[in-house]
Amino acid sequence: MQMSEPIQTLKESLPYGDTKKAFFQGSDWQSFGQSAGGHEITGKKLFGVENARRALLVGGVHGNETEGVRFMEDFIREFAMSSDRSPVNAEILAIPVFNPDGFLSFKRGNKNNVDLNRNMPTRDWSLNYSEPKYFPGPSASSEPETAAMISVLESFRPDFIISFHSWKPMININGPARPHAEVMQKKLDMEIVEDIGYPTPGSLGTYAGWERQIPTITLEFERGVELDLIYPMARDAVLNTLAIL
Ligand SMILES: [Zn+2]
Repeated sequence: MQMSEPIQTLKESLPYGDTKKAFFQGSDWQSFGQSAGGHEITGKKLFGVENARRALLVGGVHGNETEGVRFMEDFIREFAMSSDRSPVNAEILAIPVFNPDGFLSFKRGNKNNVDLNRNMPTRDWSLNYSEPKYFPGPSASSEPETAAMISVLESFRPDFIISFHSWKPMININGPARPHAEVMQKKLDMEIVEDIGYPTPGSLGTYAGWERQIPTITLEFERGVELDLIYPMARDAVLNTLAIL
């Protein structure tokens, strides 16, 4: 598979095994567990003082949705060294590549071809799925990535979550996230959508947003958009949203 330049750059710079590169070296990356394929799932705290409001930013839940990973990469690149907390009112935990198996092989699921956004142990989790790409796993929470996410939610206790995906552009809200979405929408010309048109049992939005009332936004960038354009397009919208926490 031919990979574009930014994917290659990010792939090489992520802290997998021996491939650590300068961008991530010497900074406080934390591992939250390993993927089914044995890759570390890593995150970095930004703007950190403890006991502030907390926001979890996640990219690459679907490994082929490079657009969201690229947003995360650029966000971390801008703020990794910043001690100025004024752009946001929160401690941020950034996990740029939640599904390293899928990201490294440019596919939606993890090594077991499980759609990690259908594997969370929601009350409506179901083994039924309409297309192979939505395979929810043999049981809820069967995947180590899901265990990692639950552990992140329980230890970091975010007050707000944004998960960066790509499909049709939209600000998909789960739980009490409409006020956040409306701030986001002022700088990002996308529709706010509560129902994306089909059921998503086992999703992070259902688990965190609806079942735990953590305001959760699934931000869908346009699939295939020029990667260099994503961060400039969405930066202010995300920062302004983080500033109201
Ligand atoms: Zn997705």
